[in-house]
Amino acid sequence: MSGQAVEARPALPPALARRAEADALGHAWILCGAPEARLEAMARTLGMALLCEGADRRPCGACRPCRKVERDIHPDFQWVEKPAERRQLPVERIRALRADVYIRPNEGRRKVYAIRNAWQMNDEAQNAFLKVLEEGPEYGAFLLLSENPLALLPTVRSRCELLRLEPQAGADPQLAERGAELARALLGEDPWEMARQCVPWEKGKREEVLALWEAARQAALAGRDARAVRVAQALGEAVAAGERNGNMGALWGRLWAAAQGDDL
Ligand SMILES: [Zn+2]
Repeated sequence: MSGQAVEARPALPPALARRAEADALGHAWILCGAPEARLEAMARTLGMALLCEGADRRPCGACRPCRKVERDIHPDFQWVEKPAERRQLPVERIRALRADVYIRPNEGRRKVYAIRNAWQMNDEAQNAFLKVLEEGPEYGAFLLLSENPLALLPTVRSRCELLRLEPQAGADPQLAERGAELARALLGEDPWEMARQCVPWEKGKREEVLALWEAARQAALAGRDARAVRVAQALGEAVAAGERNGNMGALWGRLWAAAQGDDL
């Protein structure tokens, strides 16, 4: 790997590395505390550790299973995500996972499922998932990726171990606070407060506004109700569209509409 954008494979925290070597890793994890891309990289490392056949160090990074997980071609390491056209991860997707987990692993010791943006599961899906956690076969392992673990039901959280990633250098606490203010305004009932938060930024620099939206998205993720999920999703879409050079004024308008409950 050479490009600066590509992060080297993250290492397991020391306590987990020791458990991995003793083959004593738990079967249910919530990966949190970082944006999705970093969580995915850590999920791969954890998946490698669960499937590694190295003699002394796990993940060794060199055995066949490790290399296959790293390249996303291991049949016993599956990514689960919401269909592109849906706003939430629907219960059918979890039911499919539940049917699949009872088919024994193809070649590994375990069958590992990594759920992208697990906070996008609605309550019905999370309840179905709870059953998998409670009743699934011993070889099943589940990695829930959720930047903010509070976006998951307490019943799900209580059955998972938390793997919280260390914050990256350069995180800006002021930006987080401003993002939280914007999220509160977007989730609040008061259109004037919303305007007060949004208007000063409407002529802001693109990168600064995108950073603000991202901070607000992270704050909104803490809310579990449908409105918070919708606002977080709208903020995520606005960040993606802004990065593709979308019209910032129009994106503010769509955010506003999403906060007020209009369909986008
Ligand atoms: Zn290995």
